[in-house]
Amino acid sequence: MKRRKFIQEGLLLAGALTLGHQTVRGKSKKKTATLHKDCVEEPARQVPILLESDVLVVGGGPSGVAAALSAARMGMKTCLVERYNHLGGLWTGGLVLPLNCTHGLSQEAQRTQVIHGISGEITDRLRRLNMVRGEVNPLVDPEACKYVLEKMMQEAGVTVVYHAWAAGAVMDGRTIRGIFAESKSGRRALLAKVVIDCTGDGDVFHWAGEKYLEARYAIGMEARLGGTDRVNHNAPGYKPHGLGAQTPIPGVTWHYMWGDAKQDGLDVMNLSRLQQKFRLKIWEDVEKLRQQPGYEQVFLLDTASQLGIRTTRILNGCYQLTLKDTMTYRNFDDCIGVSGAYTTINYDGRKVPEKERPYWQIPYRALLPRHTDNLLVAGRCFSYEEALTDDAREIGTCLVTGQGAGTAAALAVKGNDAVRNVNTAQLRSELEAQGVWFDTHNK
Ligand SMILES: Cc1cc2nc3c(=O)[nH]c(=O)nc-3n(C[C@H](O)[C@H](O)[C@H](O)COP(=O)(O)OP(=O)(O)OC[C@H]3O[C@@H](n4cnc5c(N)ncnc54)[C@H](O)[C@@H]3O)c2cc1C
Repeated sequence: MKRRKFIQEGLLLAGALTLGHQTVRGKSKKKTATLHKDCVEEPARQVPILLESDVLVVGGGPSGVAAALSAARMGMKTCLVERYNHLGGLWTGGLVLPLNCTHGLSQEAQRTQVIHGISGEITDRLRRLNMVRGEVNPLVDPEACKYVLEKMMQEAGVTVVYHAWAAGAVMDGRTIRGIFAESKSGRRALLAKVVIDCTGDGDVFHWAGEKYLEARYAIGMEARLGGTDRVNHNAPGYKPHGLGAQTPIPGVTWHYMWGDAKQDGLDVMNLSRLQQKFRLKIWEDVEKLRQQPGYEQVFLLDTASQLGIRTTRILNGCYQLTLKDTMTYRNFDDCIGVSGAYTTINYDGRKVPEKERPYWQIPYRALLPRHTDNLLVAGRCFSYEEALTDDAREIGTCLVTGQGAGTAAALAVKGNDAVRNVNTAQLRSELEAQGVWFDTHNK
């Protein structure tokens, strides 16, 4: 111990620490870093450009997929960067299987399906594969969903870069020019005319210097059980136990975990702690279940490869959508689509059940950061007040905001103009042509 401390202090005194070798085109080049008391100063370096595109989507969750598909289908050279090995984000990798917010109440008190567009295309394809259950808030099979999303991206000609973590924004004054990404290829820059932040956590708008709310919410971890059709209801001592929701695959159920309340989803040590805790808990809970009479054949099929992080950063954008807007059928001239309601909420002094809640419009300005040019934000971190969290972050809403952002990005590139200058009437008619549903009261 003493010897290590001596060496560390010696290095601090020397002021510089050799961190290692970086190989550039076969040659080994020494890089040095300066070690301070609380940080290490990285040496400046030249970062190779991996690729350039018209539209760059960061994050391949529901919002990122919808954004990339709509931009590519409008003829844009589109690239999507994803840190993991699949599309769908929490929907697939997080084993968050029900696509919520598909329906809301019309002003004529009709429960209406409002989520169509790319969302409708995905569920139609899954239906043809028998891999979705239900019409309202349908529940999907995660592997089939990954397959369908991959196929749609390939058909649209999107370049998907997997296994690459976005790690910083390439800024030119207040304009974003792209991102830096870390991967096995090293640090690389990916440049674009428009960048869409679909990281769910607002990583890109954070690096760009935008303001946001840091929202703490429950973090859990989802799982699936197999063999649930082999429960022996006639076993001596059998008692009914909840096995979760039935998935499209017989004998496989979805095991939902709410998790621990008010967690910081941006603290890597906290995420590691929760990951370990839930890994043990799920296995041990299933083992306890298997010891119950009749449940011996039930087993843990899989756990989510992504931790269930609900909200972290929520953008403070050009407009912050409010719960009141959604409860009063507020019309927006710059509406990019409509979402439905998912939970029972307290509003105006009473509990309003999901089935009585209106559908609600999403304005384009809620996807626009206040300061950064050429940046759009979609998915669970777009601009809304915290009271709206439980509807704004649902998969249905994320797909609508993604499609709106991707289409707006394409219009901006085509018009050679900034995203904040997109003609919103043109944006709406383009989205309508793509099958996005609009409330006819807002014509
Ligand atoms: C436990 C839990 C249960 C839920 N239950 C439901 C439900 O039943 N129904 C429902 O509709 N919604 C549910 N939700 C909400 C919903 O799943 C998410 O809000 C939704 O998936 C968000 O979509 P998104 O595209 O904004 O982000 P995400 O789904 O989070 O996708 C973001 C993507 O970006 C990638 N990414 C992030 N940062 C980087 C980076 N720096 N570099 C590269 N890639 C990056 C991620 O790997 C991920 O693929 C639940 C959420 C949780 C956590």
